[in-house]
Amino acid sequence: MINTQGKKALIRVDFNVPLNEEFQITDDTRIRAAAPTIKQVLADGGAAILMSHLGRPQKKKKEDGSINVEKFTLRHIVDHVSSVLGVPVQFAADTVGPDAQAKAAALQAGEVLLVENTRFSPGESKGDEELAAEMAKLGDVYINDAFGTAHRAHASTAVVAKHFSAAEKSFGFLMEKEVVSANKVLNDPEKPLTAIVGGAKVSDKILLLDRLLDTVDNLIIGGGMAYTFAKAQGGSIGNSICEEDKTDLALQLLEKGRNKGVQILLPTDNKIADGFSNDAASDFAATGAIPDGWEGLDIGPESIKAFGKVVLESKTILWNGPMGVFEFENFAHGTKSIAEYVAQATKAGAYSLIGGGDSVAAVNQMGLADDVSHASTGGGAMLEFLEGKTLPGIAAIQA
Ligand code: AMP
Repeated sequence: MINTQGKKALIRVDFNVPLNEEFQITDDTRIRAAAPTIKQVLADGGAAILMSHLGRPQKKKKEDGSINVEKFTLRHIVDHVSSVLGVPVQFAADTVGPDAQAKAAALQAGEVLLVENTRFSPGESKGDEELAAEMAKLGDVYINDAFGTAHRAHASTAVVAKHFSAAEKSFGFLMEKEVVSANKVLNDPEKPLTAIVGGAKVSDKILLLDRLLDTVDNLIIGGGMAYTFAKAQGGSIGNSICEEDKTDLALQLLEKGRNKGVQILLPTDNKIADGFSNDAASDFAATGAIPDGWEGLDIGPESIKAFGKVVLESKTILWNGPMGVFEFENFAHGTKSIAEYVAQATKAGAYSLIGGGDSVAAVNQMGLADDVSHASTGGGAMLEFLEGKTLPGIAAIQA
């Protein structure tokens, strides 16, 4: 990260935290994740001007068409940010308007200013040049620490960076860690490299699976998407989730794996239910032999064991997507077991990246976030990075 001594650092953070009906923060992970960068700026003798979005104010306007400021204002989080940073936080009631300009101009070293929700301006998501130029005037240097929005070419995440030279802009610590982790797995993995891919649909992960088959030694496929593969191979899957139009693609991916010498592991057994609910009757069935009226909601014990063995033999592990409907306690065992195996492998020296919203949620739920090498803060952004796409927020800093 660049040194900010005597400078005003304009920092794009991701403070898009969940709030309850009383506008209290229910999970402050994102604020805590950005704190080291902000604290470093202050310790270096700089001042911090923080920009973030919160929610989707342009999509959820009031009946009269105006922005619902009461709901989406960042004012709700000022006190909490202040307590996490351990310093007072000033607030500007606009993003680049007179209040933000005056408060930014008066800001002294060691002080923090949070400006209003970047998405109150329709130009933010459109990557508006004029808005970005106004944002750039607030700071002497620009730091992007908002990995969660790095895949968006928005004014505050990408376009604004044009106004700073290479020496005047950098990633923050969080962003740096995300980029280093993904690059390590993609470009410099210690072998064997194992990817575990789960989640609901094959269609969401086609690019990821295709790209991974070029580099991994083992590919473990679980979750709902495994049933499209089972169907493609001619099995009975009952009511399990399945994308009929992706069965050819599933076969092509398996063929690619064979040609590349990748060991592909699909579940061999499943925990099945007679309905899509936590309280449905449950049983176990071999893959391809799920009776009519039943659906697979989790991987079975034999699969857990086989997947776990491969995970424990791996030196680098990438995990994206749950092994089952882990939101239902009775069908969370597969996902939880994989989380435990990944933690165990990490303890034994493997490098592990948890790169997806739901698998990160599972790891957090189990209190294992500190037992993996990195749990990504950006679901969509990490997926695109792993697919090999150029992320505008990253490219803008490297330009
Ligand atoms: P994704 O966002 O693609 O990683 O998918 C996560 C979602 O997939 C979670 O909400 C899971 O409940 C869902 N999922 C995982 N396994 C299954 C399954 N066997 N049947 C239906 N949904 C599933």
